[in-house]
Amino acid sequence: MFGRLSTRLLLSHLSVAVVGAGVAFLLVRLLAPVDFARRAGVVAGGAGPGPGAGSANAGRGRLLLEAFDAAINQALVVGLVAAVVVATLLAWLMVRRLLRPLDRVRTTTRALAGGDYATRVSVPREVELARLAEDINALGGALQESEARRVRLIGEVAHEMRTPLTVIDGYVEGMIDGVFAATPDRLAAVSDEARVLRRLAEDLSALSRAEEGRLSLAPATFDLTALVAETGRRLAPQFEDARVDLALVPAPPLTVSADPDRIGQVVTNLLGNALRACSPGDTVTLGIDAADGHAVVTVEDTGRGIAPAELPRIFERFYRVPDATTGTRTGTGSGIGLTISRSIARAHGGDVVAASPGPGLGSTFRLLLPLT
Ligand code: ADP
Repeated sequence: MFGRLSTRLLLSHLSVAVVGAGVAFLLVRLLAPVDFARRAGVVAGGAGPGPGAGSANAGRGRLLLEAFDAAINQALVVGLVAAVVVATLLAWLMVRRLLRPLDRVRTTTRALAGGDYATRVSVPREVELARLAEDINALGGALQESEARRVRLIGEVAHEMRTPLTVIDGYVEGMIDGVFAATPDRLAAVSDEARVLRRLAEDLSALSRAEEGRLSLAPATFDLTALVAETGRRLAPQFEDARVDLALVPAPPLTVSADPDRIGQVVTNLLGNALRACSPGDTVTLGIDAADGHAVVTVEDTGRGIAPAELPRIFERFYRVPDATTGTRTGTGSGIGLTISRSIARAHGGDVVAASPGPGLGSTFRLLLPLT
């Protein structure tokens, strides 16, 4: 019972009232008789005409004092009891009024815990409680958004899986039923679709870790210029095959503190995307720079370009520019690459940004990383 906030608040109100009333009682008790005696004495002394009148006046004064004492005692006791009763009543009303918003907050948090993410608490007038209510409402908003994302993700994943599964199912059923022979070509097609599914599973796992902020980073201090050059060299054969020129702009060493594997993954994704956006004869330029406290890796291509309306969307999960699936497919091709790349960059305190003058005019992607 004493652990309850309402009891504690009531007791604290009451103790203030009792102490106040006690101090008033003591002061009145001590000061009033003295003051009364002084005033009554002046009046009695001034009124006495003869020598016998002095003792008679003193006796009357004592009687008066005793009567005053008794009257004041009684009045004080009644006043004290009345004050404590009124204070208790008022304190109880105030405590109830003060704690009502807390009850509402509790009801809302219980509803949130029960999965009703649309519920909100009305914001009370008291500043501190208003802040608490606003925080609870913000929490509700975040939970609602995350739930909506989860539902959308399940739908998107189901959609992404449908095509490869349909193809595999069609081929395998046809082979079982003897509709067509299990030729190496058809088995290769089945294998390709199975690989798409496996890549999707890998991407989803990386995506979920990235979106939950659980990316396990193994930071090290390394030379970004060397890492970028190495990534470029590793992908050079694919560029040669596609007859796309890969130009590495020479740059001095640039030390950063980051997870080299993850950063390599981002650069690989940006180079893979650039290659896919290019036709034979196009050029991809890979540059490293330092600006505004950031190391900047720039991947610039002369390829397909991106329409202004598509630019903000390409970082969305599963978003692919409509004609993106044509041409040589490199990388994952599931529309998750840039989402993961941006999450990795942001987990390092950096970012990935895109720019393009428009369709057919090439694009520039920049990976920004804070400099040590
Ligand atoms: P994916 O994993 O399919 O490559 P991304 O998330 O990496 O998906 O890319 C999303 C979309 O952005 C792709 O559909 C692609 O068309 C577009 N995109 C990415 N990089 C470029 C680029 N350099 N030029 C033109 N379009 C690009």
